[in-house]
Amino acid sequence: MTATSPRTPAPVLVLVPGATGAPSDGGPGYRLADPTVPQLSVTDLVATRGDGVFETIGAFDGSPVNVGPHLARLARSAEMIDMPAPDQALLAEAVDAAIAAHESVAELSVRVMYTRGVEGTGTPTCWIHAKASDDWSPYRAGMKVAVLDRGLATTAAETSPWLLQGAKTLSYAVNMAAVREAKRRGAADVLFVSSDGYALEGPTSTLLVRRGDTFLTTPASAGVLAGTAVATLFAWLREQQGLATGEELMTIEDVKGSDGAWLLSSTRLAAPITHLDEHELPVDAELTARFERVLKGGI
Ligand code: PLP
Repeated sequence: MTATSPRTPAPVLVLVPGATGAPSDGGPGYRLADPTVPQLSVTDLVATRGDGVFETIGAFDGSPVNVGPHLARLARSAEMIDMPAPDQALLAEAVDAAIAAHESVAELSVRVMYTRGVEGTGTPTCWIHAKASDDWSPYRAGMKVAVLDRGLATTAAETSPWLLQGAKTLSYAVNMAAVREAKRRGAADVLFVSSDGYALEGPTSTLLVRRGDTFLTTPASAGVLAGTAVATLFAWLREQQGLATGEELMTIEDVKGSDGAWLLSSTRLAAPITHLDEHELPVDAELTARFERVLKGGI
């Protein structure tokens, strides 16, 4: 008898040629496409220059979370790189179509990609790719995090807007290089620190810090992406738990001296930091599990 390996559910691809307005043929503006055959031109500016923006939306038991805030952020990122505004209503429909077409799985990762398009055409390329999420359980149980210098001051977003701090662009090679460096150091993820000494964000996540009954994150003005997961948690902490939330520039020593810290994102959800470099941090597994339920849209 041969052992059967677990089958990976097939990803779903939805192409959205009408992403910047109503399509001329009167169709829905998007269509399902075969993800196993090539769809992207080698001259698309995302292939040659990483020129585009994206979002990753989590869907739990078939329900996507925070679609509106994700698509609004996509529009902000597009504006920051001088791309035309995407049709958010059409994209929301196309996200639903991608989820509906996917086999039912507990956790789905839905990427919305919006690129500057094939060189010379001036027409963005847009697609949605839904796939079963990675198994994030080891990260949700707690992870070691390495502090790495981003090499930019917290004023860079204001003084050098062309560096696109706070935009979610498709040039993530630097972010992925940072994660590889963390792994070389025996850690699972990264907390970036600014050149002026403040904790920023992870390469794909937002910093959350607990100080007593107050929960803090980095101000978006420091050049970090304004996270949708932290916004959801902050609303729950304030409105359902009566706790205080805020934005504050924190040093690495502040984070080390805190009552707990997490890296938050839409698909991995709340990953508690067990160690920041060699420094051990308190981990509250029960609170982390509650965060997870809130971020899945359950509370
Ligand atoms: N910061 C960066 C750089 C990210 O790439 C991400 C998400 O991928 C986040 C923060 C967290 O954002 P969200 O909570 O909207 O997933």
